[in-house]
This record gives sequence, structure tokens and C-alpha cells, in this order.
Amino acid sequence: MPELPEVENVKIQLNKKLQDLRFQLMAVEWVGKPLRKSPSAQEFHSLLGQKLLGVSRRAKYLLFRFETSILLNSLGMSGSWKANPQSTVLHDHFVFKFKNTNSDFLKLVYNDPRRFGFFEIHKTWQHLESAKNLGPEPLESEPAFLQKHLQKFFKAKTQNVKSALMNPLAVVGVGNIYASEILFHAGIRPQKNAGRLKSKQVQRLVQSLQSVLREAVDRGGSTIRDFKSLDSILGNYQDQHFVYGRASKPCRICGSPIRKTVQAGRSTFWCQHCQK
Ligand SMILES: [Zn+2]
Repeated sequence: MPELPEVENVKIQLNKKLQDLRFQLMAVEWVGKPLRKSPSAQEFHSLLGQKLLGVSRRAKYLLFRFETSILLNSLGMSGSWKANPQSTVLHDHFVFKFKNTNSDFLKLVYNDPRRFGFFEIHKTWQHLESAKNLGPEPLESEPAFLQKHLQKFFKAKTQNVKSALMNPLAVVGVGNIYASEILFHAGIRPQKNAGRLKSKQVQRLVQSLQSVLREAVDRGGSTIRDFKSLDSILGNYQDQHFVYGRASKPCRICGSPIRKTVQAGRSTFWCQHCQK
């Protein structure tokens, strides 16, 4: 499932295509099987004629900002976007057709083999149901603010720090891959009780959170299984992983075999020697 760095890259690539050219939405075509959750044809029609002002991201959601509405898209497990493909292919679901004042055409196609991705249309940011009750953005928040917020959030928790870090109320956009990588970077054992972290450890965790996610964004995210950015651009951060997906391989720092365990039904990777 794409996490913050992957969705951020899709956003960056989509905005490159738009280039501030103010494309106007001319048509939305439905192809293939319907998604599990999507607005009705009538709701989509309310977007027709509106200019697409840009694409933003909140947590793992893409927000297509139209003049009077916001189209929210979650990529779910396997959603991806293509610009101007020659034809539609298996698992394409929507074709958005745009035109700008120079009469340039742009076609954006949403593909999702597993169909867990979804769309919502809202009038304003306040109405975005999916984006309510979310924690802060890890890359757009001041470290001191994040530290204070996480310290307070963890204090009330008796669960392990890895599960607590993946809670969207802690920070948004951190899933299974980056939780393992961030905790390795911070030298904190994933089994550690979140409520018992010392303030120095939370401070280190915040530094790791920001530096790991920043580098992952710069490297196009991690391409594992289904993720591809716009037009199948692949990320390469998976080559930099210290622990995730490296069970029994030597730790890149100390050489001990990387361990794998299951926490809250999800795989966790860690180094027994480097993480205390
Ligand atoms: Zn190690």
C-alpha cells in the first residue's frame, strides 16, 4: 500500500503534467468494473467545465483541486495514474478528459487492479470525510511541534511504538514499510511500549521520521509489489531499506541478521543489536 513518499511522488508527477496550464475538465468516462466506493455519474458531472487548479496531498490522499470542488482519491492497495495513454487497458476505471485554452488535451486515467482505491467529491476541505481526525503532516510540521504532539500521544498508549507510530492520529502517511525503517534509523526497538519512550527518544524519532520520509520522497518512494507513480515511474528507495524486507540478511550497520516479527498482524523488521 502506498505510504506518504509514494503518494507525494504521484502528486509531484501529476502537477508536472498540469504545469499551471489550467486544464478544464471536459468529460469523465467510466470503463471496466466499478470501484468499491466512488461518486455517482451525476456527482462527477458536477465537476465538468471546472478548471483543475492543481493536485495536493493530505495524509495518503490525493486532492484534485477544482474551482468549486475537491476530488479526493485514495490509491488503496494498487491504484495508479497514467497521462495520455494510447488506449485503455484491463483494470482502468476512469478516464478524465481535459482541455486548456491553447486547445491542448490531457487525458488522466485511473487504474486499480484490486479496486480498494476510491474517490470522493466535496465542496470544501472541511467536508472531506476521509480527511477528518488526522494527525499532523510529518514533513510540513516543525520538529518541536511534532515532538510535543507525539510525546503527548504516546504517553496515553500502552501498545508498542511501531503500532502507535502507524496510527494516523500520531502522524499521517506512515505505514508498515516506513514505520520499520524510521524505528531502525532512530535506534528504537519496535516492541518498546510507546508510553515508556523518554523525551530524548521521541526527539530522535522525530528526526528519523523526517529524514527517512524526506529521502524516500527524493528517491521516488519504494516500489514494492503494486506501487508505480504516474506513467509507471518506479521509485528506488527500496534499495536503501535498512530493515524492511531484509529478514535474515546482515544488518547494514552491525552485520547481525535482521529479524522479522509480526505486530498487530503486520510484519515488522528490526535489528536486535542496533535497536534498544
Ligand atoms: Zn544492526
